[in-house]
Amino acid sequence: MTKTMETNVYQVNEKGFYGDFGGAFVPEMLYPNIEELRKTYLSIINESAFQEELNILLKDYVGRPTPLNFAKRLSEKYQTQVYLKREDLCHTGAHKINNTLGQILLAKRLGKKRIIAKTGAGQHGVATATVCALMGFECVIYMGEIDIERQNPNVQRMKMLGATIRPATCGSRTLKDATNEAMRDWIANPVDTHYIIGSVVGPHPYPDLVARFQAIISEEIGIQLKEKTGNPDPTHIIACVGGGSNAAGAFYHYLDKKNVKLIAAEAAGQGVNSGYSAATTFLGKKGVLHGSRTLLMQTQDGQVVEPHSISAGLDYPGIGPMHANLFESGRAQFVDITDDESLKAAILLSRIEGIIPALETAHAIACLEKIKFSPNDIVVINLSGRGDKDLNTYIKSGIIDQKNE
Ligand SMILES: *Cc1c(COP(=O)(O)O)cnc(C)c1O
Repeated sequence: MTKTMETNVYQVNEKGFYGDFGGAFVPEMLYPNIEELRKTYLSIINESAFQEELNILLKDYVGRPTPLNFAKRLSEKYQTQVYLKREDLCHTGAHKINNTLGQILLAKRLGKKRIIAKTGAGQHGVATATVCALMGFECVIYMGEIDIERQNPNVQRMKMLGATIRPATCGSRTLKDATNEAMRDWIANPVDTHYIIGSVVGPHPYPDLVARFQAIISEEIGIQLKEKTGNPDPTHIIACVGGGSNAAGAFYHYLDKKNVKLIAAEAAGQGVNSGYSAATTFLGKKGVLHGSRTLLMQTQDGQVVEPHSISAGLDYPGIGPMHANLFESGRAQFVDITDDESLKAAILLSRIEGIIPALETAHAIACLEKIKFSPNDIVVINLSGRGDKDLNTYIKSGIIDQKNE
Protein backbone atom coordinates (compact mmCIF):
# COMPACT_ATOMS: atom_id res chain seq x y z
CA MET A 1 0.00 0.00 0.00
CA THR A 2 1.31 3.45 -0.79
CA LYS A 3 1.04 6.64 1.18
CA THR A 4 -0.53 8.63 -1.67
CA MET A 5 -3.95 8.77 0.03
CA GLU A 6 -2.59 10.72 2.94
CA THR A 7 -3.86 14.21 3.42
CA ASN A 8 -1.56 14.44 6.41
CA VAL A 9 -4.15 15.42 8.98
CA TYR A 10 -3.23 12.71 11.44
CA GLN A 11 0.40 12.25 10.41
CA VAL A 12 3.26 14.23 11.82
CA ASN A 13 3.98 17.62 10.20
CA GLU A 14 7.43 18.99 9.25
CA LYS A 15 7.80 20.55 12.67
CA GLY A 16 7.22 17.23 14.40
CA PHE A 17 3.69 17.90 15.60
CA TYR A 18 0.42 16.01 15.43
CA GLY A 19 -2.04 18.85 15.82
CA ASP A 20 -1.22 20.34 19.22
CA PHE A 21 0.92 17.44 20.29
CA GLY A 22 4.48 16.26 19.74
CA GLY A 23 7.58 18.37 19.17
CA ALA A 24 11.01 17.87 20.71
CA PHE A 25 11.32 19.25 24.23
CA VAL A 26 14.80 18.10 25.12
CA PRO A 27 17.64 19.51 27.20
CA GLU A 28 20.14 21.61 25.23
CA MET A 29 22.81 18.92 25.66
CA LEU A 30 20.71 16.37 23.81
CA TYR A 31 19.92 18.63 20.88
CA PRO A 32 22.77 17.43 18.59
CA ASN A 33 21.76 13.77 18.97
CA ILE A 34 18.12 14.47 18.16
CA GLU A 35 19.06 16.76 15.27
CA GLU A 36 21.26 14.12 13.66
CA LEU A 37 18.39 11.68 13.78
CA ARG A 38 15.80 14.19 12.58
CA LYS A 39 17.89 15.23 9.58
CA THR A 40 18.75 11.71 8.44
CA TYR A 41 15.98 9.28 9.37
CA LEU A 42 13.65 9.68 6.40
CA SER A 43 16.30 9.51 3.71
CA ILE A 44 17.89 6.45 5.34
CA ILE A 45 14.74 4.43 5.90
CA ASN A 46 13.46 5.19 2.41
CA GLU A 47 16.67 3.95 0.70
CA SER A 48 15.98 0.84 -1.31
CA ALA A 49 19.01 -1.01 0.14
CA PHE A 50 17.74 -0.27 3.64
CA GLN A 51 14.23 -1.46 2.81
CA GLU A 52 15.59 -4.60 1.22
CA GLU A 53 17.71 -5.52 4.24
CA LEU A 54 14.81 -4.77 6.62
CA ASN A 55 12.30 -6.75 4.56
CA ILE A 56 14.50 -9.85 4.40
CA LEU A 57 14.94 -9.81 8.19
CA LEU A 58 11.24 -9.13 8.79
CA LYS A 59 10.44 -12.16 6.68
CA ASP A 60 13.12 -14.65 7.70
CA TYR A 61 13.95 -13.57 11.25
CA VAL A 62 10.73 -12.08 12.61
CA GLY A 63 8.44 -14.39 10.63
CA ARG A 64 6.41 -11.80 8.70
CA PRO A 65 3.88 -11.48 7.30
CA THR A 66 2.05 -12.47 10.48
CA PRO A 67 -1.27 -14.20 9.73
CA LEU A 68 -4.63 -12.45 9.72
CA ASN A 69 -6.74 -15.07 11.39
CA PHE A 70 -10.56 -15.21 11.07
CA ALA A 71 -11.74 -15.92 14.62
CA LYS A 72 -14.77 -18.08 13.98
CA ARG A 73 -15.95 -18.85 17.49
CA LEU A 74 -15.27 -15.35 18.75
CA SER A 75 -17.24 -14.01 15.78
CA GLU A 76 -20.18 -16.26 16.60
CA LYS A 77 -20.17 -15.18 20.22
CA TYR A 78 -20.28 -11.48 19.38
CA GLN A 79 -22.42 -11.82 16.24
CA THR A 80 -19.94 -10.04 13.99
CA GLN A 81 -16.83 -10.85 11.95
CA VAL A 82 -13.63 -10.73 13.96
CA TYR A 83 -10.15 -11.05 12.47
CA LEU A 84 -7.04 -11.32 14.63
CA LYS A 85 -3.77 -9.81 13.40
CA ARG A 86 -1.29 -12.22 14.90
CA GLU A 87 1.64 -10.11 16.11
CA ASP A 88 1.92 -12.66 18.92
CA LEU A 89 3.54 -14.94 16.35
CA CYS A 90 6.47 -12.57 15.77
CA HIS A 91 9.88 -13.75 16.98
CA THR A 92 10.08 -12.83 20.70
CA GLY A 93 6.28 -12.95 20.95
CA ALA A 94 5.15 -9.39 20.28
CA HIS A 95 5.23 -6.49 17.84
CA LYS A 96 8.10 -4.67 19.58
CA ILE A 97 10.72 -6.34 17.41
CA ASN A 98 9.38 -4.63 14.24
CA ASN A 99 10.66 -1.38 15.71
CA THR A 100 13.92 -2.51 17.34
CA LEU A 101 14.96 -4.24 14.12
CA GLY A 102 14.28 -1.11 12.07
CA GLN A 103 16.12 1.09 14.53
CA ILE A 104 19.23 -1.07 14.71
CA LEU A 105 19.53 -1.03 10.92
CA LEU A 106 19.19 2.76 11.10
CA ALA A 107 21.91 2.86 13.79
CA LYS A 108 24.19 0.82 11.54
CA ARG A 109 23.67 3.28 8.66
CA LEU A 110 24.49 6.12 11.05
CA GLY A 111 27.81 4.45 11.89
CA LYS A 112 26.88 3.71 15.52
CA LYS A 113 28.46 0.79 17.37
CA ARG A 114 26.57 0.78 20.62
CA ILE A 115 22.88 0.70 21.58
CA ILE A 116 21.27 1.95 24.76
CA ALA A 117 17.65 1.58 25.83
CA LYS A 118 15.55 1.85 28.94
CA THR A 119 12.91 -0.61 29.91
CA GLY A 120 10.27 -0.93 32.63
CA ALA A 121 8.75 -4.37 32.37
CA GLY A 122 11.69 -5.56 30.30
CA GLN A 123 9.86 -6.39 27.08
CA HIS A 124 11.44 -3.57 25.10
CA GLY A 125 14.76 -4.49 26.70
CA VAL A 126 14.45 -8.05 25.44
CA ALA A 127 13.48 -6.91 21.93
CA THR A 128 16.49 -4.55 21.92
CA ALA A 129 18.93 -7.14 23.28
CA THR A 130 17.68 -9.56 20.62
CA VAL A 131 18.50 -7.32 17.66
CA CYS A 132 21.83 -6.30 19.22
CA ALA A 133 22.82 -9.97 19.38
CA LEU A 134 21.66 -10.40 15.80
CA MET A 135 23.70 -7.46 14.51
CA GLY A 136 26.70 -7.72 16.85
CA PHE A 137 26.18 -4.42 18.70
CA GLU A 138 27.11 -3.65 22.28
CA CYS A 139 23.86 -3.34 24.25
CA VAL A 140 23.32 -1.45 27.51
CA ILE A 141 19.88 -1.56 29.10
CA TYR A 142 18.89 0.87 31.86
CA MET A 143 16.32 -0.41 34.28
CA GLY A 144 15.10 0.75 37.68
CA GLU A 145 16.39 -1.30 40.60
CA ILE A 146 12.82 -2.07 41.68
CA ASP A 147 11.88 -3.20 38.17
CA ILE A 148 14.94 -5.48 38.06
CA GLU A 149 13.61 -7.26 41.12
CA ARG A 150 10.05 -7.42 39.77
CA GLN A 151 10.92 -8.57 36.25
CA ASN A 152 13.55 -11.21 36.87
CA PRO A 153 12.74 -13.52 33.90
CA ASN A 154 13.17 -10.67 31.40
CA VAL A 155 16.39 -9.58 33.12
CA GLN A 156 17.74 -13.10 32.69
CA ARG A 157 16.66 -13.15 29.03
CA MET A 158 18.48 -9.89 28.33
CA LYS A 159 21.61 -11.20 30.02
CA MET A 160 21.42 -14.44 28.09
CA LEU A 161 21.26 -12.36 24.90
CA GLY A 162 24.48 -10.62 25.94
CA ALA A 163 23.15 -7.28 27.18
CA THR A 164 24.55 -5.35 30.13
CA ILE A 165 21.90 -4.26 32.63
CA ARG A 166 22.58 -0.97 34.43
CA PRO A 167 20.33 -0.47 37.45
CA ALA A 168 18.95 3.01 38.15
CA THR A 169 19.39 3.43 41.89
CA CYS A 170 18.08 6.99 42.36
CA GLY A 171 14.57 8.31 43.05
CA SER A 172 11.73 5.81 42.85
CA ARG A 173 14.15 3.37 41.13
CA THR A 174 11.68 2.65 38.31
CA LEU A 175 11.25 3.58 34.64
CA LYS A 176 11.48 7.35 35.09
CA ASP A 177 14.87 7.06 36.77
CA ALA A 178 16.10 4.59 34.16
CA THR A 179 15.08 7.17 31.53
CA ASN A 180 17.22 9.85 33.18
CA GLU A 181 20.24 7.54 33.30
CA ALA A 182 19.83 6.56 29.67
CA MET A 183 19.66 10.27 28.70
CA ARG A 184 22.86 10.96 30.62
CA ASP A 185 24.58 8.11 28.81
CA TRP A 186 23.44 9.39 25.40
CA ILE A 187 24.62 12.92 26.15
CA ALA A 188 28.03 11.52 27.14
CA ASN A 189 28.27 9.26 24.06
CA PRO A 190 26.66 11.13 21.15
CA VAL A 191 28.96 9.83 18.40
CA ASP A 192 29.01 6.06 18.76
CA THR A 193 25.67 5.41 20.50
CA HIS A 194 22.06 5.16 19.30
CA TYR A 195 19.19 5.30 21.77
CA ILE A 196 16.33 2.94 20.86
CA ILE A 197 12.96 4.13 22.12
CA GLY A 198 10.37 1.36 22.28
CA SER A 199 7.06 3.10 21.59
CA VAL A 200 5.62 6.08 19.70
CA VAL A 201 6.74 8.42 22.48
CA GLY A 202 9.67 10.74 23.10
CA PRO A 203 10.91 13.76 21.15
CA HIS A 204 10.38 14.08 17.40
CA PRO A 205 11.37 12.18 15.28
CA TYR A 206 10.93 9.12 17.51
CA PRO A 207 7.11 8.87 17.42
CA ASP A 208 7.14 9.07 13.62
CA LEU A 209 10.13 6.75 13.29
CA VAL A 210 8.56 4.07 15.47
CA ALA A 211 5.14 4.46 13.78
CA ARG A 212 6.74 3.93 10.37
CA PHE A 213 8.48 0.74 11.52
CA GLN A 214 5.20 -0.57 12.98
CA ALA A 215 3.18 0.48 9.91
CA ILE A 216 3.97 -2.90 8.36
CA ILE A 217 1.07 -4.18 10.50
CA SER A 218 -1.63 -2.15 8.71
CA GLU A 219 0.10 -2.60 5.35
CA GLU A 220 -0.29 -6.36 5.77
CA ILE A 221 -3.85 -6.08 7.12
CA GLY A 222 -4.88 -4.29 3.91
CA ILE A 223 -3.35 -6.93 1.65
CA GLN A 224 -4.66 -9.85 3.71
CA LEU A 225 -8.19 -8.51 4.10
CA LYS A 226 -8.40 -7.84 0.37
CA GLU A 227 -7.44 -11.46 -0.26
CA LYS A 228 -10.03 -12.74 2.19
CA THR A 229 -12.97 -10.39 1.65
CA GLY A 230 -12.22 -8.49 -1.56
CA ASN A 231 -11.94 -5.22 0.37
CA PRO A 232 -8.76 -3.97 2.07
CA ASP A 233 -10.72 -1.85 4.56
CA PRO A 234 -12.22 -3.26 7.74
CA THR A 235 -15.04 -1.34 9.43
CA HIS A 236 -13.16 -1.26 12.75
CA ILE A 237 -9.61 -1.72 14.01
CA ILE A 238 -9.04 -2.28 17.72
CA ALA A 239 -5.68 -2.09 19.49
CA CYS A 240 -4.48 -1.54 23.03
CA VAL A 241 -2.51 1.60 23.83
CA GLY A 242 0.34 1.83 26.30
CA GLY A 243 2.64 4.32 24.60
CA GLY A 244 0.78 3.39 21.44
CA SER A 245 3.17 1.67 19.03
CA ASN A 246 1.13 -1.42 18.17
CA ALA A 247 -1.96 0.77 17.76
CA ALA A 248 -0.02 3.25 15.60
CA GLY A 249 1.09 0.36 13.39
CA ALA A 250 -2.39 -1.13 13.11
CA PHE A 251 -3.99 2.27 12.37
CA TYR A 252 -1.25 3.78 10.20
CA HIS A 253 -2.49 3.18 6.64
CA TYR A 254 -6.09 3.79 7.71
CA LEU A 255 -5.58 7.10 9.50
CA ASP A 256 -7.08 9.15 6.68
CA LYS A 257 -9.74 6.62 5.69
CA LYS A 258 -12.71 7.84 7.67
CA ASN A 259 -14.78 4.78 6.74
CA VAL A 260 -12.51 2.75 9.06
CA LYS A 261 -13.27 3.33 12.75
CA LEU A 262 -10.25 3.31 15.03
CA ILE A 263 -10.67 2.03 18.57
CA ALA A 264 -7.99 2.31 21.25
CA ALA A 265 -8.17 0.30 24.48
CA GLU A 266 -6.68 2.00 27.50
CA ALA A 267 -5.89 0.43 30.85
CA ALA A 268 -8.36 1.63 33.48
CA GLY A 269 -6.62 -0.42 36.18
CA GLN A 270 -9.02 -0.81 39.11
CA GLY A 271 -11.35 1.77 37.50
CA VAL A 272 -10.83 5.26 36.06
CA ASN A 273 -11.82 6.96 39.31
CA SER A 274 -10.20 4.48 41.70
CA GLY A 275 -6.85 6.25 41.98
CA TYR A 276 -5.28 3.11 40.50
CA SER A 277 -5.58 3.65 36.78
CA ALA A 278 -3.56 4.28 33.62
CA ALA A 279 -6.44 5.63 31.48
CA THR A 280 -4.56 8.61 30.12
CA THR A 281 -7.22 10.16 27.89
CA PHE A 282 -9.78 10.04 30.70
CA LEU A 283 -7.48 11.34 33.43
CA GLY A 284 -4.76 13.19 31.52
CA LYS A 285 -4.13 16.84 30.74
CA LYS A 286 -1.78 18.48 28.28
CA GLY A 287 1.81 18.59 29.37
CA VAL A 288 5.33 17.57 28.40
CA LEU A 289 6.40 14.01 29.08
CA HIS A 290 9.64 12.35 27.92
CA GLY A 291 10.36 15.05 25.35
CA SER A 292 6.99 15.62 23.69
CA ARG A 293 3.83 17.55 24.39
CA THR A 294 1.05 15.08 24.95
CA LEU A 295 -1.69 14.03 27.34
CA LEU A 296 -0.44 12.77 30.66
CA MET A 297 -1.70 12.01 34.13
CA GLN A 298 -0.52 14.81 36.40
CA THR A 299 -1.35 16.62 39.61
CA GLN A 300 -2.59 20.27 39.74
CA ASP A 301 0.99 21.49 39.82
CA GLY A 302 2.18 19.23 37.01
CA GLN A 303 3.78 16.32 38.87
CA VAL A 304 3.39 13.05 36.98
CA VAL A 305 0.92 10.73 38.68
CA GLU A 306 2.00 7.14 39.24
CA PRO A 307 -0.14 4.99 36.92
CA HIS A 308 -1.56 1.57 37.67
CA SER A 309 -2.42 -1.34 35.42
CA ILE A 310 -2.27 -5.09 35.88
CA SER A 311 -0.47 -5.13 32.57
CA ALA A 312 3.11 -3.88 32.69
CA GLY A 313 3.10 -2.72 29.07
CA LEU A 314 0.13 -0.38 29.62
CA ASP A 315 1.34 0.96 32.96
CA TYR A 316 2.43 4.34 31.55
CA PRO A 317 1.23 7.82 32.61
CA GLY A 318 1.06 9.21 29.05
CA ILE A 319 0.29 8.29 25.46
CA GLY A 320 2.19 9.11 22.30
CA PRO A 321 1.40 12.46 20.60
CA MET A 322 -0.21 10.78 17.58
CA HIS A 323 -2.79 9.20 19.89
CA ALA A 324 -3.32 12.39 21.89
CA ASN A 325 -4.27 14.01 18.58
CA LEU A 326 -6.46 11.08 17.50
CA PHE A 327 -8.27 11.42 20.82
CA GLU A 328 -8.65 15.18 20.77
CA SER A 329 -9.80 15.29 17.14
CA GLY A 330 -12.28 12.48 17.79
CA ARG A 331 -10.72 10.38 15.00
CA ALA A 332 -10.24 7.45 17.38
CA GLN A 333 -12.57 6.21 20.09
CA PHE A 334 -10.86 5.48 23.41
CA VAL A 335 -12.32 2.73 25.57
CA ASP A 336 -11.29 2.13 29.17
CA ILE A 337 -10.85 -1.48 30.23
CA THR A 338 -10.29 -2.52 33.86
CA ASP A 339 -7.86 -5.14 35.14
CA ASP A 340 -10.76 -7.54 35.75
CA GLU A 341 -12.27 -7.01 32.32
CA SER A 342 -8.90 -7.74 30.72
CA LEU A 343 -8.50 -10.96 32.73
CA LYS A 344 -11.95 -12.12 31.61
CA ALA A 345 -11.08 -11.37 28.00
CA ALA A 346 -7.79 -13.29 28.34
CA ILE A 347 -9.50 -16.44 29.57
CA LEU A 348 -12.21 -16.05 26.93
CA LEU A 349 -9.73 -15.88 24.04
CA SER A 350 -7.81 -18.83 25.47
CA ARG A 351 -10.93 -21.01 25.76
CA ILE A 352 -12.69 -19.93 22.59
CA GLU A 353 -9.82 -19.59 20.11
CA GLY A 354 -6.93 -21.47 21.73
CA ILE A 355 -4.82 -18.33 21.93
CA ILE A 356 -3.38 -17.14 25.26
CA PRO A 357 -2.93 -13.40 24.79
CA ALA A 358 -0.65 -10.96 26.57
CA LEU A 359 -2.46 -8.98 29.26
CA GLU A 360 -1.99 -5.81 27.19
CA THR A 361 -3.67 -7.46 24.24
CA ALA A 362 -6.51 -8.74 26.42
CA HIS A 363 -7.57 -5.10 26.88
CA ALA A 364 -8.20 -4.89 23.13
CA ILE A 365 -10.20 -8.14 23.17
CA ALA A 366 -12.33 -6.80 26.03
CA CYS A 367 -13.62 -4.02 23.73
CA LEU A 368 -15.90 -6.64 22.14
CA GLU A 369 -17.94 -6.50 25.36
CA LYS A 370 -18.13 -2.70 25.32
CA ILE A 371 -19.10 -1.88 21.75
CA LYS A 372 -22.01 -3.34 19.82
CA PHE A 373 -20.95 -4.54 16.39
CA SER A 374 -23.30 -5.66 13.63
CA PRO A 375 -23.14 -8.94 11.69
CA ASN A 376 -21.67 -7.28 8.61
CA ASP A 377 -18.93 -5.42 10.42
CA ILE A 378 -15.35 -6.49 9.79
CA VAL A 379 -13.51 -6.01 13.07
CA VAL A 380 -9.74 -6.40 13.09
CA ILE A 381 -8.15 -6.78 16.52
CA ASN A 382 -4.41 -6.34 16.72
CA LEU A 383 -3.14 -9.23 18.80
CA SER A 384 -0.03 -7.42 20.01
CA GLY A 385 1.57 -10.26 21.97
CA ARG A 386 1.38 -13.70 23.48
CA GLY A 387 0.62 -14.42 27.10
CA ASP A 388 3.49 -16.63 28.28
CA LYS A 389 5.11 -13.69 30.08
CA ASP A 390 1.87 -13.09 32.03
CA LEU A 391 1.29 -16.63 33.21
CA ASN A 392 2.13 -15.80 36.82
CA THR A 393 -0.38 -12.95 36.86
CA TYR A 394 -3.02 -15.23 35.35
CA ILE A 395 -2.29 -17.88 38.00
CA LYS A 396 -2.47 -15.36 40.87
CA SER A 397 -5.74 -13.90 39.59
CA GLY A 398 -7.51 -17.25 39.93
CA ILE A 399 -9.06 -17.12 36.45
CA ILE A 400 -7.26 -20.25 35.32
CA ASP A 401 -9.33 -22.44 37.63
CA GLN A 402 -12.56 -20.95 36.37
CA LYS A 403 -14.87 -23.45 34.66
CA ASN A 404 -16.13 -22.77 31.14
CA GLU A 405 -19.36 -20.82 31.16
C1 LIG B 1 4.78 -3.29 25.16
C2 LIG B 1 3.53 -3.93 24.77
C3 LIG B 1 2.34 -3.18 24.54
C4 LIG B 1 2.25 -1.70 24.79
O1 LIG B 1 3.09 -0.91 24.00
P1 LIG B 1 2.53 -0.07 22.77
O2 LIG B 1 3.69 0.80 22.42
O3 LIG B 1 1.35 0.70 23.25
O4 LIG B 1 2.18 -1.02 21.71
C5 LIG B 1 1.21 -3.85 24.11
N1 LIG B 1 1.21 -5.19 23.92
C6 LIG B 1 2.30 -5.94 24.14
C7 LIG B 1 2.23 -7.41 23.93
C8 LIG B 1 3.50 -5.34 24.57
O5 LIG B 1 4.58 -6.09 24.77
